[in-house]
Amino acid sequence: ATPTALLVGTGRGSQLGILIRGPQTLESTRRVDTIVLDKTGTVTTGRMELLDAVAADGESVAEIVAVAAAVESGSEHPIGRAIVTAGQAKGDLPEAASFVSHQGQGVTAAVGGRAVAVGRADWLERDWALPLPAPLRESFDDAEAAGNTAVVVGWDGAVRGILIVGDSIKPTSAEAIARFRRLGLTPVLLTGDNAGAAATVAASVGITDVRAGVTPAGKLAAIQSLQAAGHVVAMVGDGVNDAAALAAADLGIAMGAGTDAAIAASDLTVMSGDLLVVADAIRLARRTLSTIK
Ligand code: ADP
Ligand code: MG
Repeated sequence: ATPTALLVGTGRGSQLGILIRGPQTLESTRRVDTIVLDKTGTVTTGRMELLDAVAADGESVAEIVAVAAAVESGSEHPIGRAIVTAGQAKGDLPEAASFVSHQGQGVTAAVGGRAVAVGRADWLERDWALPLPAPLRESFDDAEAAGNTAVVVGWDGAVRGILIVGDSIKPTSAEAIARFRRLGLTPVLLTGDNAGAAATVAASVGITDVRAGVTPAGKLAAIQSLQAAGHVVAMVGDGVNDAAALAAADLGIAMGAGTDAAIAASDLTVMSGDLLVVADAIRLARRTLSTIK
């Protein structure tokens, strides 16, 4: 009876738009007690928009947006795409060369003779010796306190400005998190984004355990430390930066619109990217298991 029951489970799973890698996946769903959720692209839509740009003294907003957009042309990150869209709306972008994506930190490239870095403030300061000037600090802190993400643009020895981006929470995220709790799962929000943005999202979907400013390696470490504390952990993510954590989790769940790396590292893929379907998938898999046993 086992193979048939499994087939039924995966067959109904495919109606919901769930791809299940193998039978051991079903067993994991029974034991999970913790569900770790990536923020950007998982709890939120990941469709970011450029909301504002603030120039340092003597710099031009138009140049900052154009140069940053040129650098981000090589990026797959939602933040990068938002900046490219905003830059293109203002005109043709300058050429960028030697593009490098630095996981969970930002991007670098050469644009018209400038060596440009776009990304986290602490990364620009530490790795590129580009500290945030005091007059920009207030706009930066206000943006993050409002739940948005501020990225810093610097080149040739100075920070030139900040770009403020934001996205919206998926309409079903709060209900899905309530359902996870009813399934006996404790939700944890894990993000590379800043503490302000993370706290705003967590509060509006009902998550109290929030870990912000986490690097991709830190995401993996967070999963491992939950496991070391005796938890059986599901992880839901969409980005290249989530792949190691998804592979280490007892149950790795990828969003269908996510990156190939996230999907390849997961046990289960939810095509629609709807977290309610993740709850359905766990419920369905548990029920399929009790049919088998
Ligand atoms: P999340 O965990 O929310 O998916 P990431 O780990 O991808 O976030 O990114 C963490 C932070 O690194 C972002 O909030 C941003 O500050 C910075 N960052 C990452 N990629 C880029 C990029 N392409 N351009 C600018 N900043 C970036
Ligand atoms: Mg993400």
